[in-house]
Amino acid sequence: MLRILRVAVPVPVQRTFDYLLPDNAEDLTAEPGVRVKVPFGRHHKVAYLLETSDTTDVPLTGLKPATAILDARPLLSKADLELLRWLSRYYHHPIGEVINTAFPSLLRRGGCAVLQREKTLLLTDTGHLAAADQFQRAPRQAWLLAMLRRQSQGLSVAALATLEWNWRPVVTSLHKKGLIRIVEQAMGQVGEKAAPHQPEIQLNAAQMSAVASVSAAFGAYRAFLLEGVTGSGKTEVYTRLVQTVLDRGEQAIVLLPEISLMRQLEARFRERFAVSVAVFHSGLSDAERCRAWLRMQCGEASVLLGTRSAVFTPMRKPGLIILDEEHDVAFKQQEGFRFSARDVAVIRAQRLHIPVLLGSATPSLESYYNAARLRYQPLFLPDRAGHARPPVFRLLDVRNQPLDEGLSAGLLAMTAQTLARGEQVLLFLNRRGFAPILICHACGWVAQCRRCDANLVVHAGDRRLRCHHCDYEQALPVHCALCQAENLYQLGLGTERVQQAVSRLFPEARLARVDRDSTRRKGSLEDALGRTHAGTVDILLGTQMLTKGHHFPHVTLVGILDVDAALYSVDYRAHERMAQQIIQVAGRAGREDKPGTVVLQTRHPDHPLLRLLLEKGYPSFAKAALAERKTANLPPYSYQALLRAEAGMQEAPKRFLQRTKTLIQGLPRRHIDVLGPVPAPMARQAGRYHYQLLLQCNHRAHLHVLLGRLLAQFSTLKEIRRVRWSVDVDPVDLY
Ligand code: ADP
Ligand code: ZN
Ligand code: ZN
Repeated sequence: MLRILRVAVPVPVQRTFDYLLPDNAEDLTAEPGVRVKVPFGRHHKVAYLLETSDTTDVPLTGLKPATAILDARPLLSKADLELLRWLSRYYHHPIGEVINTAFPSLLRRGGCAVLQREKTLLLTDTGHLAAADQFQRAPRQAWLLAMLRRQSQGLSVAALATLEWNWRPVVTSLHKKGLIRIVEQAMGQVGEKAAPHQPEIQLNAAQMSAVASVSAAFGAYRAFLLEGVTGSGKTEVYTRLVQTVLDRGEQAIVLLPEISLMRQLEARFRERFAVSVAVFHSGLSDAERCRAWLRMQCGEASVLLGTRSAVFTPMRKPGLIILDEEHDVAFKQQEGFRFSARDVAVIRAQRLHIPVLLGSATPSLESYYNAARLRYQPLFLPDRAGHARPPVFRLLDVRNQPLDEGLSAGLLAMTAQTLARGEQVLLFLNRRGFAPILICHACGWVAQCRRCDANLVVHAGDRRLRCHHCDYEQALPVHCALCQAENLYQLGLGTERVQQAVSRLFPEARLARVDRDSTRRKGSLEDALGRTHAGTVDILLGTQMLTKGHHFPHVTLVGILDVDAALYSVDYRAHERMAQQIIQVAGRAGREDKPGTVVLQTRHPDHPLLRLLLEKGYPSFAKAALAERKTANLPPYSYQALLRAEAGMQEAPKRFLQRTKTLIQGLPRRHIDVLGPVPAPMARQAGRYHYQLLLQCNHRAHLHVLLGRLLAQFSTLKEIRRVRWSVDVDPVDLY
């Protein structure tokens, strides 16, 4: 009988490929979910087995044998393989590339999927107590015991192999005497200790009720939205739930939007569940990521802490998925396979029949909408945990006020008072660099990037001009490039400029700046955060990096320098993001016993959404913002897909999308709006021209049918060869 391997090859085409069994593997029983090495074009590729079949549409003479089957057992479960196939259809992205995303890069390249184990020597209790003078006649045994006392993690056999003498008989005699034990452990995980038991915090009523609701759902699908104000003890809820999952002998995945948040939570988790924590993010080496993935896959690790793409990590015994800061746009992948880790987490939980918990102080409007429609069960932590009180908001009307580098007299006075009390101040401005514009006062010339439709940003620290959209940079010029006048002005405000002003105005104050530039050096973010915690910083200044999860208990004044830009942005999500940022940055202040004040400088103190946010809180704001979306028929009340195209020439992407539009108009389409093609908000980026075509529809299903039909016909467009194109389903960013 014919045995055909149907595999997904990671190439950008939406189809599968058929192969014969490898030549030397007649009776091999390959199961879906194993990796298969196949000849592809002039190369070999690592592909993924989707199914075996006894029929094929390929003429038999055209079938090639696979080169090798790489895994004895499937690395992905049936449910996960089904999930990935479904995602490939939902996001209209090639199945091979979708499956690739689920694997760590070492395995994608065909690396070994068996955890490397090694023998390790550890002292037994008797060994710990053995007196040194017992070994006067056996100096080597004495040496090894002394060595092991110093190495609480144990010594690997590989390390012993570097000794110049024959260590085997020494180990054998110690082992016979019961002084050491020999264990097999996964490499790099040697001797992790069992959890030291922490004195547990007494949960408050709201936390207990949240834990109870989720716990009651174990073993079945259910989605929860945990809305807890900053400092309300969400992390404590996660920790208890993970503990319960472990007690059930199951595994949990906990996702965070950013690496910088990982360390705090990792430390907290290791305190409680040391043995079984694995971590997965881009700050680790390929080997470390691969090991974390495999430890979860084989069930050796019980908790995985990770960023976006960790959402796909296989679980031997799935128990729970938690996604913290669920509103964060970093959960959406912005290139290649453009999935939303939040949405994938929910769908995966559904297919694995486990609960999923989304948490945030400022849930996304989509999630509010889902909670309102009872797709997600809402859970609330309305109060700050312990004794901490909520911050007080104050709008500072800065119209007609003199500003010193963006700082009003009111804010400066409050800063001075706070410093005088020996407390900390946090200043927030979401723009890095010194000034966003360099302009010639003689002729009006503005320094622009040669490759993007963007101004170059002045960086005063190293006297450079930089483009924030491509990697272009140059020395800060002294003369105008057009008229040569030495009359260049730096317009606008960045964190560097505020830093300069603050050090001039408060020469005594110790200052730390946190933005992408100041934290480029490894460890510098930790350093700034550490100094803030230690109290050796008086004023902390920075961008949205400061809004994320960190706790600054001694900060009692938060100054938000500029909210006006967001109030009048063209992006329909700008209000939502502004509100989230304000609430998140405000949440950094006045934890513990000191109350915090949050000051917002604005020229629009009567803006209705801003007032609503500050007077009634985020939930009321969200309700009003959702009502606006409904009126405008924008997501989540409608569904969108964005077709993007780019090329080195302006005409090609435009023409391609025009032809696409014509194609769409020839297809049966029900109530689908086609908007564009229009240039992307920044049309030229790094020397390439970007265009886009937006499809919008009130029925998700209609949109998907249309996209499927459209993409099936794409190959008939000859213009397609001149552009790079992509489909973004549920886009969160129109760039
Ligand atoms: P969130 O993640 O909601 O911002 P955390 O879980 O980090 O909040 O908790 C904020 C602070 O409150 C932490 O210092 C935490 O130890 C403390 N905390 C949490 N739950 C309680 C509780 N039930 N009683 C007292 N303190 C608590
Ligand atoms: Zn000039
Ligand atoms: Zn540029």
